[in-house]
Amino acid sequence: MNNVTLNEIQRFSFDNSNVRGERVLLNEAYQEIIKRKEYPVALEKLLGEFVAAIALLRDIIKIDGVLSIQAKGYGFLSTLMTECDEHQNLRGIAQWDESQTIPDTISLKNALEGGYLAITIQPRNGQRYQGIVELVGDTLAECLEQYFSQSEQLPSRVWLAANGAQCGGLFLQRLPEEQAKENDEDAWERLTHLASTVKEDELLGLETSALLHRLYHEEAVRLYDTKTMQFGCSCSRQRTLDAVMSLGSEELRELLIEQGSVNVDCQFCAEQYVFTESDLESLLGDQAKTH
Ligand SMILES: [Zn+2]
Repeated sequence: MNNVTLNEIQRFSFDNSNVRGERVLLNEAYQEIIKRKEYPVALEKLLGEFVAAIALLRDIIKIDGVLSIQAKGYGFLSTLMTECDEHQNLRGIAQWDESQTIPDTISLKNALEGGYLAITIQPRNGQRYQGIVELVGDTLAECLEQYFSQSEQLPSRVWLAANGAQCGGLFLQRLPEEQAKENDEDAWERLTHLASTVKEDELLGLETSALLHRLYHEEAVRLYDTKTMQFGCSCSRQRTLDAVMSLGSEELRELLIEQGSVNVDCQFCAEQYVFTESDLESLLGDQAKTH
């Protein structure tokens, strides 16, 4: 199957059924994220699933602000997170025990060994909301299905795939009864059954219209505008400085004495920030004087 180059997400619906969907396929945005570290193959795949998942969430949860999915683990994988803002800027990272040899295929559940998942919604203006997601089943897709059925009270299905070059996802959700269209009570069963025949190489290799034709050529499918997604990091000198200041004046003084400056590399985009004594002096006040 030929590779298709897309960095987009597209919403769709069924004219005769009470079900909506989203489809995402990302190449460049995903590759920009995984090329920043020497990730083991298994983590490239898991990170890809997280990238596809945050893109789906971005189009489902409509807020002005930042969404993130974060996994914390107690096994070799300590952190895996992806984030997306309202301009479809994606970033992500995984942190793991680099001394360990990791098999090329590992389930999220086994990689985390009893950790947890958190989905955070941070509006630009308003209160941050965080939902903890149980690690049900082996995969991120199963965890997300659980999240949607709890948070939106709507049955939802998710399919995710990634292979180190592309990541893709498919989402279906049954809309509330008030919006039900007449005489199609088995639509949800039928549409999710058809979707569950999707193969990984189709999720990663077919354009959206071709994929939906493959799954739903007997249904009236309506496609909406595509949205482009791209790699983008939200770090800034000021934000990094805020984080640096939270270390406390004593620790900062020690760093200045040892290194002559405080150096911070952004883990997401590798941007380097350097803060000298004069940058920090006024913020630290009299305590910062290193004589
Ligand atoms: Zn950055």
